[in-house]
Amino acid sequence: MDSKIATLQIHACGTMIPAELSRKAKTSPMVQDCPFCSIDEQKTAIVEKREAVYVALSNPRLVRGHLLVIPRRHVEKLAELTQEELTVLWDTVVEFQEKILTSFSTGCDVRQNYRPFQRQSRVKVDHLHVHLIPREFKDQIYQVTQIYETQLFEDLEEEEKRDVLLLLRMR
Ligand SMILES: [Zn+2]
Repeated sequence: MDSKIATLQIHACGTMIPAELSRKAKTSPMVQDCPFCSIDEQKTAIVEKREAVYVALSNPRLVRGHLLVIPRRHVEKLAELTQEELTVLWDTVVEFQEKILTSFSTGCDVRQNYRPFQRQSRVKVDHLHVHLIPREFKDQIYQVTQIYETQLFEDLEEEEKRDVLLLLRMR
């Protein structure tokens, strides 16, 4: 199922560094070969550019209207974002989810994956990003993948509940 998680495909475009990125470079350098650090605006459908984040059409995409919200600074997990970046990121996610619900679909998934065990590829980019995926009742995503998710759900047993709560509360 992992291979179905789409991410933006952009080809690295050499050394052009947008002003906003170079300002951040002291604390978080652009990562070479990161498609989200080096955006090729000829090949990438940018929906909106903001100081701390940008929004782009996912390519490859899962469904029509599949968007990515991407912080400009290269980080790989949510805890690495500053409070300000986190606020801008989620405000943008909320705003564009509403746009999707107005223009594309009756539902919309919000997904953020952290999978350091998976190698970067066309459908897996390490640079943190949030997926906004338009959804409908029994749509293609459901038919191809989520229909099988019901097999994964199990009742939460008392022993597991105790153990997991203990682990989480100890940290
Ligand atoms: Zn990056």
